[in-house]
Amino acid sequence: MTVCCNGDDAALLTEFDLEQFAALCIVSEVKLPPAIGETTVAAQKSSRLKCQRCRNHRPSVGTHSGYAGRCQRCISVVRQP
Ligand SMILES: [Zn+2]
Repeated sequence: MTVCCNGDDAALLTEFDLEQFAALCIVSEVKLPPAIGETTVAAQKSSRLKCQRCRNHRPSVGTHSGYAGRCQRCISVVRQP
């Protein structure tokens, strides 16, 4: 999902944390490019891989050797003793 918004809204979203905002919106990722004018929101199909454990499309899937097909959040969960 791409959110183009002015400085005040962008600062608020950044302060809230984009990863948490993505979870709140039930999307895999939120992009926040600089905006000109009013706030707009556009959704696109994710190009990220799907985690085999949680079924979410996350940027961290496939980036950790030994945990192919899992996202960082799931790796942290399965590593806990
Ligand atoms: Zn996962």
